[in-house]
Amino acid sequence: PPAKVTVIGLGNMGRPMAACMTRAGYQVTGFDLSNAARAKFTQEGGYAAATVDEAIAGAAAIVTLLPDGKIVRAAIEGIKTKLAKGTVVIDMSSSAPLGTRALGEELIAAGLEFIDAPVSGGVKRAIDGTLAIMAGGAHATIDRADQILLAMGKSVFRTGPLGSGHAAKALNNYVSAAGLAAAAEALAIGSKFGIEPDTLVDVLNASTGRNNSTENKLKQFMISETYASGFALALMAKDIQTADELAHQIGVTAPLADEITAMWNAALQQLGPTSDHTEIGRYLTAKK
Ligand code: NAD
Repeated sequence: PPAKVTVIGLGNMGRPMAACMTRAGYQVTGFDLSNAARAKFTQEGGYAAATVDEAIAGAAAIVTLLPDGKIVRAAIEGIKTKLAKGTVVIDMSSSAPLGTRALGEELIAAGLEFIDAPVSGGVKRAIDGTLAIMAGGAHATIDRADQILLAMGKSVFRTGPLGSGHAAKALNNYVSAAGLAAAAEALAIGSKFGIEPDTLVDVLNASTGRNNSTENKLKQFMISETYASGFALALMAKDIQTADELAHQIGVTAPLADEITAMWNAALQQLGPTSDHTEIGRYLTAKK
């Protein structure tokens, strides 16, 4: 029979990633605390268990796609004694690296296996199964998880020891958020000077200012004012803060990360927890 994989967290990313694993032949059972998320997953053809105990029974691997590392720790602590020795726990959420390292060491000491394997590419690439995956932890465990990961992504980068995937992910999102904020500020300045936003985006995309946000976010979500990227501003603010905290924890001076963190936290205060991360454009324009 196909190996059973349990996905905990059936949000914007967990649902399409679970569907990718089903397509690859795994027996996937999902769980989410939210009734609405479980119902949506069922509607999309997935199988959601009513309780976490049912979800994990007989699973060879547990994949978490939860908001942050504290929630991952709470969820895993609630089930760890019920998992068979050797079960592979894969945290694909964007969690904080030092917390991940501590959690991973505890689970490994208890006879489980653990890697961090966060993803980049957003909802679209989650649906397509073409995410970038950055895996931290023992090579032998990543080898065991490789086929599961490749069901969701086109590449698995081995970043180093436990927590290094989460560090790489936070640093990526810091760079991504800085690029998005810079582009949004440029649009605000340009449009006040009389340059059509669409025209400026075309210029950036044909020039050296081009980045993933200028290509895939400015027209699609910001100028159109749909703000429907499927990635919450609260989650992006958490990721940048994670990168900045990591810098401070290990004694690296990072003034731009400090600044970008403060900017996104202020935007979160103003726009509220349900806002989309592309609404940073609305925040920057409103400030002017
Ligand atoms: P989301 O908010 O859409 O989904 C999270 C889900 O977790 C929700 O359905 C929530 O009900 C559930 N949940 C919370 N606590 C739980 C618990 N204790 N047990 C079970 N379920 C619980 O978030 P998302 O956009 O799917 O993101 C998930 C993770 O992936 C985050 O760490 C995020 O930063 C990261 N990520 C998101 C994107 C994106 O584009 N959305 C891209 C890359 C990485």
